[in-house]
Amino acid sequence: MADNPPFSGPFAPSDADLSRCVHCGLCLESCPTYTETGLETESPRGRLYLIKAIAEERIEATPTVVGHLDLCLQCRNCEAVCPSGVPYGRIMEGARAELLANRPPLAWRLRALFLREVIARPRRMAAFATLLRLYRASGLRWLAERAPFLRERVILAPTISGPTFRARGVLARPRGEARGRVALLIGCIMPHAYGRVHEATVRVLARNGFEVVAPPHQACCGALNAHNGDRPTARALARRNIDAFLDAGVDAVVVNSAGCGSAMKEYGELLADDPDYAEKAKRFAGMVKDVTELLAELPLEAPTGRVEADVTFQDPCHLAHAQRITGAPRELLAAIPGLRLVEMAQPDRCCGSAGIYSLAHREMSLDLLDGKMREIAATGAEVIATANPGCMAQIEAGLRRHRRPGRVVHVVELLDEAYR
Ligand code: SF4
Ligand code: SF4
Repeated sequence: MADNPPFSGPFAPSDADLSRCVHCGLCLESCPTYTETGLETESPRGRLYLIKAIAEERIEATPTVVGHLDLCLQCRNCEAVCPSGVPYGRIMEGARAELLANRPPLAWRLRALFLREVIARPRRMAAFATLLRLYRASGLRWLAERAPFLRERVILAPTISGPTFRARGVLARPRGEARGRVALLIGCIMPHAYGRVHEATVRVLARNGFEVVAPPHQACCGALNAHNGDRPTARALARRNIDAFLDAGVDAVVVNSAGCGSAMKEYGELLADDPDYAEKAKRFAGMVKDVTELLAELPLEAPTGRVEADVTFQDPCHLAHAQRITGAPRELLAAIPGLRLVEMAQPDRCCGSAGIYSLAHREMSLDLLDGKMREIAATGAEVIATANPGCMAQIEAGLRRHRRPGRVVHVVELLDEAYR
């Protein structure tokens, strides 16, 4: 019996949620860590069993047990296929929050500290991005990725090249018939790593009749904090975003990062017990749209330019499994003249990025990436489209690792090209 039992605090997974698992095992073959290892303890069913056993104080959260929970990507593929509707994402986030609050391993504390004190703080994030930019521009990355003893260790480190997206306030006025006013989430890493995706998103939204604004006081969405157990920071960031976006008087909050959109659609749940924010959080969550979701709901302004390319689409886990959006990005790609969509065998299988998972669990992340690169190679596509910065960075690393040519883009970038 543990002297300080975890899972008795405010974030503890509820018995009602845990009891929904009927151990049928239908989720097993959809779980990337189970299919890689073949171990029940690395499966959704096994992890739910461990969490329930800790909650009921039948086992302790030993380093081995915590390791099984930590190897979960939180891709939520299991949740999407579960016939009993087990809210796996909510359960795992709650379990991690309880573990982080009760004698967490040092690695968990360091991760939470880095996410809270660097990633979620815009100035520090900008300084970190400058270091990554220098790492690439100086040729150090090139050298490190060719050194046999370093190669495996550094290949998944994020690299940053293009200009940072700095615009705030009114970003664009609508072209043609006005359809509304939307606010864009800028995010933490996206503006530094893929500022060009924000530029394309703004142009595409304006082309489809939207005024686009970026409220200046918005913050990081808090997804990485929540996934890594730091719910207090995730809640603080959610409150800031709710205030910033609701004050902007917009019809929708548009997100071009699937992980962020998924977290923001769950603000209602995150702040359900906050008397000052519960109602606002629910209202805000109802306004959040992935950019592909919003565009696919419109009578889309037909693109006339051609994009002559074979393109394959990687479903981001938090778009396909958490938000259950798979048709919208494909509809947009199908609307582009000249573009040929070539599907992978398992386009919704995790690429191994999963926020900072690729840094915390390099071996599993590389195994999943190698599988993904084999699938991409089998399509023969020269362009890989997706809808999440983590997936973009991971697949770019895969192209470098496998010395394959190819171009990784967000779906809106292809649409933007077709409009131009
Ligand atoms: S999580 Fe769902 S699919 Fe998986 S074993 Fe439990 S009930 Fe079955
Ligand atoms: S979230 Fe993903 S990695 Fe974790 S148990 Fe579910 S399917 Fe497996």
